[in-house]
Amino acid sequence: AKYVYDFTEGNKDLKDLLGGKGANLAEMTNLGLPVPPGFTITSQACRHYLAEGAVPDGLEAEVAEHLAALESAMGKKLGQADDPLLVSVRSGAKFSMPGMMETVLNIGLNDESVHGLAKQAGGNERFAWDSYRRLIQMFGKTVLGIDGDLFEHALESLKGSRQDTDLAAEELQALVETFKGIVRSETGKDFPSDPRDQMRLAVMAVFDSWNAPRAILYRRQERIPADLGTAVNIVAMVFGNLGEDSGTGVAFTRDPGSGRQGLYGDYLQNAQGEDVVAGIRNTIPLQELERIDKRSYDELLQIMEKLENHYRDLCDIEFTIERGKLWMLQTRVGKRTAAAAFCIATQLVDQGLISIDEAVTRITGDQLAQLMFPRFSSEGERRLLTKGMNASPGAAVGKVVFTSERAIELAGQGEDVILVRRETNPDDLSGMIAARGVLTSRGGKTSHAAVVARGMGKTCVCGAEELEVSTSSRSFTAPGGVTVNEGDVISIDGSTGEVFLGEVPVMDSAVVEYFEGAAPQDDLVRAVDRIMKHADEVRTLGVRANADNAEDSARARRFGAAGIGLCRTEHMFLGDRRQLVEDLVLASSEEERQSALDALEPLQKSDFIEIFQAMDGLPVTIRLIDPPLHEFLPDLVELSVKVAKGDASDKERALLVAVKRLHEQNPMLGLRGVRLGLVIPGLFAMQVRAIAEAAREVRGARPEIMIPLVAAVQELEAVREEAVGILAEVGVDALVGTMIETPRAALTAGQIAEAAQFFSFGTNDLTQMAWGFSRDDVEAAFFSRYLELGIFGVSPFETLDRDGVGRLVRIAAEEGRKARPDLKLGICGEHGGDPDSVHFCHEAGLDYVSCSPFRVPVARLEAARAAL
Ligand code: PEP
Ligand code: MG
Repeated sequence: AKYVYDFTEGNKDLKDLLGGKGANLAEMTNLGLPVPPGFTITSQACRHYLAEGAVPDGLEAEVAEHLAALESAMGKKLGQADDPLLVSVRSGAKFSMPGMMETVLNIGLNDESVHGLAKQAGGNERFAWDSYRRLIQMFGKTVLGIDGDLFEHALESLKGSRQDTDLAAEELQALVETFKGIVRSETGKDFPSDPRDQMRLAVMAVFDSWNAPRAILYRRQERIPADLGTAVNIVAMVFGNLGEDSGTGVAFTRDPGSGRQGLYGDYLQNAQGEDVVAGIRNTIPLQELERIDKRSYDELLQIMEKLENHYRDLCDIEFTIERGKLWMLQTRVGKRTAAAAFCIATQLVDQGLISIDEAVTRITGDQLAQLMFPRFSSEGERRLLTKGMNASPGAAVGKVVFTSERAIELAGQGEDVILVRRETNPDDLSGMIAARGVLTSRGGKTSHAAVVARGMGKTCVCGAEELEVSTSSRSFTAPGGVTVNEGDVISIDGSTGEVFLGEVPVMDSAVVEYFEGAAPQDDLVRAVDRIMKHADEVRTLGVRANADNAEDSARARRFGAAGIGLCRTEHMFLGDRRQLVEDLVLASSEEERQSALDALEPLQKSDFIEIFQAMDGLPVTIRLIDPPLHEFLPDLVELSVKVAKGDASDKERALLVAVKRLHEQNPMLGLRGVRLGLVIPGLFAMQVRAIAEAAREVRGARPEIMIPLVAAVQELEAVREEAVGILAEVGVDALVGTMIETPRAALTAGQIAEAAQFFSFGTNDLTQMAWGFSRDDVEAAFFSRYLELGIFGVSPFETLDRDGVGRLVRIAAEEGRKARPDLKLGICGEHGGDPDSVHFCHEAGLDYVSCSPFRVPVARLEAARAAL
């Protein structure tokens, strides 16, 4: 293998091998820009080193060869006493990991060559000794693993209140001796004076820094694969610290915060390397360079324009000026905020640099989502209490309450409240609606609180396990013994999972106002408007919404949904109406059962009428009731205690017998969905009748009836027959289809399609059953460990597991369509609003995804990106 590439040999597309920095240095070199000469050791060499504990055979020879070429290009030799070549050794992985890995500058200096360097610099002794002390400091810290504070303290005590530029040559020379002493006492060895040793050790230190704890942590957070390794760049040194006609700076070709065009950057005179970012001295705005060094400034502007046109995107750069000569040290396509991403993409279209298609691919659904949530402004003080799971994004501030009743009461008085629960259950729905946000100490991202909150677009942090929530004492305690009582104000960030004590200021989203119908007012919203309009033109995947009331349905429509993909009817019986379902389930006689059904039917009908009206002719998929039974029954433990204490009425005692009879160890695998419909006669029939009659009353209504949790075509046939009969009786047309939520349904999809006009993949249950993971428990229980172990990179409840669950989806889609070519296919699990899962659905040939109303724009954008 070839392990070393000269800058003239690489290009920007070789990031896998040369890392981002090396690939872009090569690209700039080939563009004819002033890049100091150098070469790159590949990430493959690093991988070998990390796996084998030694550099690959042949690497040293290749490095020596490239070093010789570099030396002859520069006309000096590494570390040569009277006229030394110095080099930097810089890390550079495929994905940028800012500040995570190591760099060593000024390699090649020792007690002799420091004089040669002073001579090169026109007798500038100060500069030479400053460079030398920097080498020992950086090398000592990063290569030899010495505590950096030891060097810092020595420097600080020498400086006193002066700036580092005020230190005289003699002082710096003395500092070098001090630093060498630190190296000796910390490592028991002298600082290595052989330049080749310095270089070799520095390269290995950069390799090793790939596995530094902070780098590992960063990769995990950013989902960067752990096995890529880093490349190493060896670059001829140029000096920004040669005097006032030298300096170093960073710049962006436009504003990475807002996307506005113009010059953004900082410059520091007479400085080297990390001084700018480290904030050693105050930098000046890049514009002032024009006054200091007009020629370099003009050249820099030209180069920046050239880079933008070449990369067709915002670039960030690092540069150094050595005595009036500009050198480019780095460039890359720069990171930017979500708002800037939209603005820049459309600007580049206007400049003719990219097509509008490409502009759509330059923005992610996650970036759009970020713009849709109210945010905490970064100003002001924050006091972090704990961090839970970022279950439903947004920023919410309010007084802490521990019960739904209190939430409703305070909200009714115009207070903002945050509902804090150990976990929520359907009884908390009214409290969740009243609250600005929801915080739980238990449960994962598909726990009740999380799913319902996302559905409502309500901020939610769940599974904040460090919190001890005590509903009875109306308080919770956070780590460090902080106690928060009812009425105290907290701020929760559903995008990060952070929980703060006190009020953090919040900003509203103009993008949501736009989706709600407001005309675009500013550049950002105009950019969003253009991108979204084009996205809708190019996407082939439909987007529907999960909604079960008129308000959510109306919002879904405004946000661009082409229909309702999942109306969960059991959600219509939460709150006050829960009792009616309980009565039905516990009914002990035919009359009781019928009277419970009679009470439910008109409520259902009026709900459906409202939804049909809100959707105004768009299809509405209504799922027949699928309640995990325990959610609709009185609590077994509570009731048992009451009976045991002798406090229970006769009715309650009878109730306990019934609840015990129906109690399930595994409610999510129990009497749910179609099973309930087959066990309780009249239940599904009542719902179908309510749907049909509602549809008859709303012009253009397009109901689609969906049967949940089917595993066998026989289940579906029984229900379907009854439904079709009722539809005919009422005289209404509706598709009848099924959810595919069990692995067996997916595997027998060919049979099931005979009885279903459409499939909608319920990937929440399908994931639960394919993995055997309880969707209510496992995320909080052990997913963090699984993520750590790399068993998966992201929860399969969040992003569809293509290999397993995805395979079931593909099998079902294929066999279903074989049996019924016009079978309509959709997905309505939480994955319907997840960017990666949307791409999967496009690839698998589904007709639409269905997601919560607030995710609809995200899904529209991602569907377009998938199509491009
Ligand atoms: C599903 O299982 O994916 C689904 C949409 O149904 P629910 O979440 O209501 O079980
Ligand atoms: Mg389900």
